[in-house]
Amino acid sequence: MSYKPLEEVKQRLERLGTYELNEEKFVEVAECVLKEEEPIDRLIEGYHQLLDEVSNEMKQMDGHMGMTPTCQMGCAFCCYFPIIITRLEAKMIIRSIESMNEKRRQSIKAHLKEYFEVNKGNVEYCTTLDFQNEDVKLDYMKAQLPCPLLNTETNTCMAYESRPLPCRTYVNYMDPKFCEDHLVPEETVSFEFLYEDYMGNLNEIAQEVAHEDETVKYPEDLFEYNYLPAFLKEWIQREE
Ligand code: SF4
Repeated sequence: MSYKPLEEVKQRLERLGTYELNEEKFVEVAECVLKEEEPIDRLIEGYHQLLDEVSNEMKQMDGHMGMTPTCQMGCAFCCYFPIIITRLEAKMIIRSIESMNEKRRQSIKAHLKEYFEVNKGNVEYCTTLDFQNEDVKLDYMKAQLPCPLLNTETNTCMAYESRPLPCRTYVNYMDPKFCEDHLVPEETVSFEFLYEDYMGNLNEIAQEVAHEDETVKYPEDLFEYNYLPAFLKEWIQREE
Protein backbone atom coordinates (compact mmCIF):
# COMPACT_ATOMS: atom_id res chain seq x y z
CA MET A 1 0.00 0.00 0.00
CA SER A 2 1.32 3.45 -0.82
CA TYR A 3 0.89 6.34 1.60
CA LYS A 4 0.69 10.06 0.95
CA PRO A 5 3.95 12.03 1.36
CA LEU A 6 4.14 14.74 4.05
CA GLU A 7 4.05 17.63 1.57
CA GLU A 8 0.80 16.38 0.02
CA VAL A 9 -0.80 15.87 3.44
CA LYS A 10 0.22 19.40 4.44
CA GLN A 11 -1.30 20.84 1.26
CA ARG A 12 -4.54 18.96 1.80
CA LEU A 13 -4.70 20.07 5.44
CA GLU A 14 -4.63 23.67 4.21
CA ARG A 15 -8.05 23.01 2.68
CA LEU A 16 -9.42 23.04 6.22
CA GLY A 17 -9.19 26.84 5.94
CA THR A 18 -12.24 26.71 3.65
CA TYR A 19 -14.14 24.11 5.69
CA GLU A 20 -17.26 25.42 7.39
CA LEU A 21 -17.78 23.76 10.73
CA ASN A 22 -21.43 22.95 11.38
CA GLU A 23 -21.56 24.59 14.82
CA GLU A 24 -25.36 24.51 14.75
CA LYS A 25 -25.29 20.70 14.92
CA PHE A 26 -23.51 20.83 18.30
CA VAL A 27 -26.10 23.31 19.62
CA GLU A 28 -28.93 21.12 18.27
CA VAL A 29 -27.54 18.10 20.14
CA ALA A 30 -27.46 20.05 23.41
CA GLU A 31 -31.00 21.40 22.91
CA CYS A 32 -32.32 17.98 21.96
CA VAL A 33 -30.85 16.02 24.89
CA LEU A 34 -32.10 18.60 27.37
CA LYS A 35 -35.58 17.27 26.62
CA GLU A 36 -34.68 13.78 27.96
CA GLU A 37 -36.45 12.51 31.07
CA GLU A 38 -33.79 11.95 33.76
CA PRO A 39 -31.20 14.74 34.24
CA ILE A 40 -28.23 12.37 34.28
CA ASP A 41 -29.46 10.65 31.10
CA ARG A 42 -29.39 14.01 29.38
CA LEU A 43 -25.76 14.45 30.30
CA ILE A 44 -24.65 10.95 29.30
CA GLU A 45 -26.61 11.17 26.07
CA GLY A 46 -25.19 14.65 25.44
CA TYR A 47 -21.64 13.42 26.06
CA HIS A 48 -22.01 10.60 23.54
CA GLN A 49 -23.92 12.58 20.94
CA LEU A 50 -21.51 15.53 21.05
CA LEU A 51 -18.59 13.13 20.61
CA ASP A 52 -20.40 11.48 17.72
CA GLU A 53 -20.77 14.93 16.22
CA VAL A 54 -17.02 15.47 16.60
CA SER A 55 -16.40 12.19 14.73
CA ASN A 56 -18.97 13.20 12.13
CA GLU A 57 -17.32 16.60 11.54
CA MET A 58 -13.97 14.87 11.18
CA LYS A 59 -15.38 12.60 8.48
CA GLN A 60 -16.76 15.63 6.64
CA MET A 61 -13.38 17.32 6.86
CA ASP A 62 -11.69 14.20 5.50
CA GLY A 63 -14.04 14.38 2.53
CA HIS A 64 -13.28 18.09 2.12
CA MET A 65 -9.54 17.37 2.11
CA GLY A 66 -9.84 14.22 0.03
CA MET A 67 -7.94 12.13 2.59
CA THR A 68 -8.70 9.09 4.70
CA PRO A 69 -6.94 8.37 8.01
CA THR A 70 -4.59 5.41 7.95
CA CYS A 71 -5.44 4.60 11.60
CA GLN A 72 -6.83 1.07 11.96
CA MET A 73 -8.30 -1.13 14.63
CA GLY A 74 -5.50 -3.01 16.38
CA CYS A 75 -3.06 -0.11 16.02
CA ALA A 76 -2.83 1.50 19.45
CA PHE A 77 0.39 3.50 19.68
CA CYS A 78 -1.64 6.60 20.57
CA CYS A 79 -3.16 4.75 23.55
CA TYR A 80 0.16 5.30 25.35
CA PHE A 81 -0.24 9.08 25.15
CA PRO A 82 -1.34 11.10 28.18
CA ILE A 83 -5.13 11.49 27.97
CA ILE A 84 -6.10 14.57 29.93
CA ILE A 85 -9.78 15.14 30.54
CA THR A 86 -12.12 16.89 32.96
CA ARG A 87 -13.71 15.24 35.97
CA LEU A 88 -17.07 15.63 34.23
CA GLU A 89 -15.87 13.58 31.25
CA ALA A 90 -14.36 10.98 33.59
CA LYS A 91 -17.74 10.71 35.32
CA MET A 92 -19.39 10.15 31.94
CA ILE A 93 -16.93 7.39 31.00
CA ILE A 94 -17.43 5.71 34.38
CA ARG A 95 -21.21 5.99 34.13
CA SER A 96 -21.06 4.47 30.66
CA ILE A 97 -19.03 1.55 31.97
CA GLU A 98 -21.47 1.16 34.85
CA SER A 99 -24.36 0.98 32.40
CA MET A 100 -22.75 -1.80 30.32
CA ASN A 101 -24.02 -5.34 30.66
CA GLU A 102 -22.86 -7.23 33.75
CA LYS A 103 -20.27 -9.35 31.94
CA ARG A 104 -18.59 -6.45 30.18
CA ARG A 105 -18.72 -4.21 33.25
CA GLN A 106 -17.19 -6.85 35.51
CA SER A 107 -14.52 -7.67 32.98
CA ILE A 108 -13.48 -3.98 32.74
CA LYS A 109 -13.46 -3.62 36.52
CA ALA A 110 -11.35 -6.76 36.97
CA HIS A 111 -8.99 -5.56 34.25
CA LEU A 112 -8.65 -2.14 35.91
CA LYS A 113 -8.02 -3.66 39.33
CA GLU A 114 -5.20 -5.79 37.97
CA TYR A 115 -3.88 -2.92 35.83
CA PHE A 116 -3.47 -0.63 38.83
CA GLU A 117 -1.74 -3.36 40.83
CA VAL A 118 0.67 -4.34 38.04
CA ASN A 119 1.41 -0.77 36.92
CA LYS A 120 1.40 0.85 40.37
CA GLY A 121 4.80 2.57 40.13
CA ASN A 122 4.38 3.63 36.51
CA VAL A 123 0.90 5.02 37.12
CA GLU A 124 2.22 6.98 40.10
CA TYR A 125 5.08 8.37 37.99
CA CYS A 126 2.96 9.27 34.96
CA THR A 127 0.02 10.79 36.81
CA THR A 128 2.25 13.08 38.81
CA LEU A 129 3.91 14.56 35.72
CA ASP A 130 2.96 18.20 35.33
CA PHE A 131 0.66 18.25 32.30
CA GLN A 132 1.31 21.96 31.79
CA ASN A 133 4.93 21.11 31.04
CA GLU A 134 5.71 21.18 27.31
CA ASP A 135 7.73 17.93 27.50
CA VAL A 136 4.96 16.01 29.20
CA LYS A 137 3.95 14.03 26.10
CA LEU A 138 7.45 12.75 25.55
CA ASP A 139 8.09 11.98 29.23
CA TYR A 140 4.78 10.14 29.49
CA MET A 141 5.41 8.19 26.27
CA LYS A 142 8.87 7.17 27.44
CA ALA A 143 7.23 5.44 30.40
CA GLN A 144 5.18 3.29 27.96
CA LEU A 145 2.20 3.11 30.27
CA PRO A 146 -0.79 1.78 28.30
CA CYS A 147 -4.13 3.49 28.84
CA PRO A 148 -6.06 1.62 31.55
CA LEU A 149 -8.85 1.00 29.03
CA LEU A 150 -6.57 -0.56 26.43
CA ASN A 151 -6.77 -4.31 26.03
CA THR A 152 -3.09 -4.90 25.28
CA GLU A 153 -3.73 -8.37 23.88
CA THR A 154 -6.05 -7.19 21.13
CA ASN A 155 -4.88 -3.55 21.08
CA THR A 156 -8.49 -2.41 21.27
CA CYS A 157 -10.30 0.03 23.53
CA MET A 158 -12.51 -1.60 26.16
CA ALA A 159 -14.84 1.41 26.23
CA TYR A 160 -14.58 2.39 22.57
CA GLU A 161 -17.99 4.05 22.27
CA SER A 162 -17.23 6.25 25.31
CA ARG A 163 -13.60 7.08 24.53
CA PRO A 164 -12.98 10.77 25.14
CA LEU A 165 -12.26 13.55 22.68
CA PRO A 166 -8.42 13.33 22.59
CA CYS A 167 -8.71 9.69 21.43
CA ARG A 168 -10.98 10.72 18.55
CA THR A 169 -9.24 13.82 17.30
CA TYR A 170 -5.72 12.41 16.91
CA VAL A 171 -5.21 11.15 13.35
CA ASN A 172 -2.52 9.89 11.01
CA TYR A 173 -2.97 10.36 7.25
CA MET A 174 0.42 8.96 6.39
CA ASP A 175 2.31 5.71 6.88
CA PRO A 176 1.33 4.16 10.26
CA LYS A 177 5.04 3.39 10.67
CA PHE A 178 5.48 7.00 11.83
CA CYS A 179 3.50 6.13 14.97
CA GLU A 180 5.43 2.92 15.44
CA ASP A 181 8.85 4.50 15.01
CA HIS A 182 8.43 7.74 16.98
CA LEU A 183 7.16 8.33 20.50
CA VAL A 184 5.75 11.71 19.51
CA PRO A 185 5.47 11.67 15.71
CA GLU A 186 5.33 15.07 14.02
CA GLU A 187 3.43 13.77 11.01
CA THR A 188 0.17 13.16 12.87
CA VAL A 189 -2.69 15.67 13.07
CA SER A 190 -4.84 16.71 16.02
CA PHE A 191 -8.29 18.22 15.46
CA GLU A 192 -8.22 19.85 18.88
CA PHE A 193 -10.06 22.91 17.59
CA LEU A 194 -13.28 20.85 17.77
CA TYR A 195 -12.93 20.95 21.55
CA GLU A 196 -14.57 24.37 21.77
CA ASP A 197 -17.92 23.37 20.24
CA TYR A 198 -17.93 20.02 22.01
CA MET A 199 -17.08 21.37 25.45
CA GLY A 200 -19.10 24.56 25.10
CA ASN A 201 -22.26 22.54 24.56
CA LEU A 202 -21.41 19.88 27.15
CA ASN A 203 -20.98 22.79 29.55
CA GLU A 204 -24.51 24.03 28.71
CA ILE A 205 -26.00 20.60 29.45
CA ALA A 206 -23.97 20.14 32.66
CA GLN A 207 -25.11 23.52 33.92
CA GLU A 208 -28.76 22.54 33.52
CA VAL A 209 -28.33 19.05 34.93
CA ALA A 210 -26.35 20.19 37.98
CA HIS A 211 -29.50 21.92 39.30
CA GLU A 212 -31.23 18.56 39.55
CA ASP A 213 -28.51 15.97 40.08
CA GLU A 214 -26.20 16.48 43.02
CA THR A 215 -23.58 14.04 41.67
CA VAL A 216 -22.78 16.63 39.00
CA LYS A 217 -20.81 19.51 40.45
CA TYR A 218 -20.99 22.64 38.38
CA PRO A 219 -18.65 24.26 37.44
CA GLU A 220 -16.08 22.33 39.53
CA ASP A 221 -16.34 19.13 37.46
CA LEU A 222 -15.62 21.08 34.28
CA PHE A 223 -12.56 22.84 35.59
CA GLU A 224 -10.79 19.91 37.18
CA TYR A 225 -8.40 18.38 34.66
CA ASN A 226 -6.41 15.24 35.28
CA TYR A 227 -5.06 12.15 33.56
CA LEU A 228 -7.63 9.51 32.64
CA PRO A 229 -5.69 6.85 34.64
CA ALA A 230 -5.86 9.07 37.75
CA PHE A 231 -9.65 9.34 37.53
CA LEU A 232 -10.10 5.62 36.85
CA LYS A 233 -7.77 4.68 39.73
CA GLU A 234 -9.78 6.86 42.10
CA TRP A 235 -12.99 5.13 40.94
CA ILE A 236 -11.66 1.60 41.24
CA GLN A 237 -10.25 2.27 44.72
CA ARG A 238 -13.59 3.68 45.80
CA GLU A 239 -15.29 0.52 44.56
CA GLU A 240 -13.10 -1.79 46.63
S1 SF4 B 1 -9.73 5.51 26.08
FE1 SF4 B 1 -9.58 3.87 24.59
S2 SF4 B 1 -8.98 4.89 22.67
FE2 SF4 B 1 -8.55 6.32 24.35
S3 SF4 B 1 -6.40 5.97 24.91
FE3 SF4 B 1 -7.67 4.67 26.23
S4 SF4 B 1 -7.75 2.70 25.17
FE4 SF4 B 1 -7.07 4.20 23.68
